[in-house]
Amino acid sequence: MIYACEDSKCGYVAEGASIWTVCPECGGIMKPIEEKEMTAAQWSQLGYFLACREGSDKKRVYECFQKAAHMGDLWGMNNLGWCLENGVGTQKDERTAVWLYEQAAQQGYIPAICNYGYCLQNGIGVRKDMKKAAEMFRRAADSGYLRAQVLLAFCYHDGKGVGEDKHKAFEWMRRAAGQGNPMACLYTGKCYEDGEGVEKDAAEAAGYYQIAAYGGDAQGQFRIGYCYDRGIGVPRDERRMIYWYQKAAQQRFPKAIDRLGVCYEIGRGVKRDKEQAYRLYCQAANEKDEGGLYHLALCYAGGKAVKTDYGKAKTICREALSRKPDRNLKRKLETLLQEVERCEEEERKKV
Ligand SMILES: [Zn+2]
Repeated sequence: MIYACEDSKCGYVAEGASIWTVCPECGGIMKPIEEKEMTAAQWSQLGYFLACREGSDKKRVYECFQKAAHMGDLWGMNNLGWCLENGVGTQKDERTAVWLYEQAAQQGYIPAICNYGYCLQNGIGVRKDMKKAAEMFRRAADSGYLRAQVLLAFCYHDGKGVGEDKHKAFEWMRRAAGQGNPMACLYTGKCYEDGEGVEKDAAEAAGYYQIAAYGGDAQGQFRIGYCYDRGIGVPRDERRMIYWYQKAAQQRFPKAIDRLGVCYEIGRGVKRDKEQAYRLYCQAANEKDEGGLYHLALCYAGGKAVKTDYGKAKTICREALSRKPDRNLKRKLETLLQEVERCEEEERKKV
């Protein structure tokens, strides 16, 4: 049975075994509706409702968008393109997907303009055309479409289809961040921290990281934790530092797990606990974090929370080095490796 919200402005549509009486969107009245009475917009709504449901029949999703598209609904057309691009409820057909995006784009439908641009940028169902892609992003971005603003920012950042321009990249990312998008906030924060495309400003950086963190972005959570750790743009605060490291670690963000390990090892913001530190280093190392590997190697080299094992320490060091760590860490790893080899040599002499 299909149910539709009586308020046409809301337009919520649902389908399933359960009986819908109250609209979960607006609190209005939901009434059963026959398929033949349904408008194009309602078919789109129903397709969207089903697409968002876990375990829903994807063929039905496709069918809904197909009906909506045939009736001329631009949202439906765009979403039908999405089904074809990704093989949702149907065979993948990128060329038809692009055709649909282009049709909806020509009628001014903003998300389709952005999707069409994305296909042009990545050669999905159409010949790659970076310049045209950037133009599409620009049109959608100018209308305030978030995804297009982010994509356009990356175009300027990497000089794809437009001249490289870090300042313009920053400006577009900041506009996207202004819409509260966590990832855009993270990148805007990074621009402020590194002074890329904008004057360096640690306080602004921390502010944007904080918004990204509250928005659930794991890297944002790690970064604001690190700001509190080092006093970047905010006063040092061990309690907040631990809070955000833990949040990011819960999302398995490797650098946060490693930093948390260091906090436990030296008793910073938490009670000193070498075993817990070791466990966290293992976790970070499992996630292939170079810092985690380094700290784990140190545990084996120095017999911290584990039995000294030079062989293991060396293997872990070499693995970390193979992951191309930054210069600072590379030097530390090389020094540790030499030190372990020297200790090994001395042991051999003793025997
Ligand atoms: Zn409603």
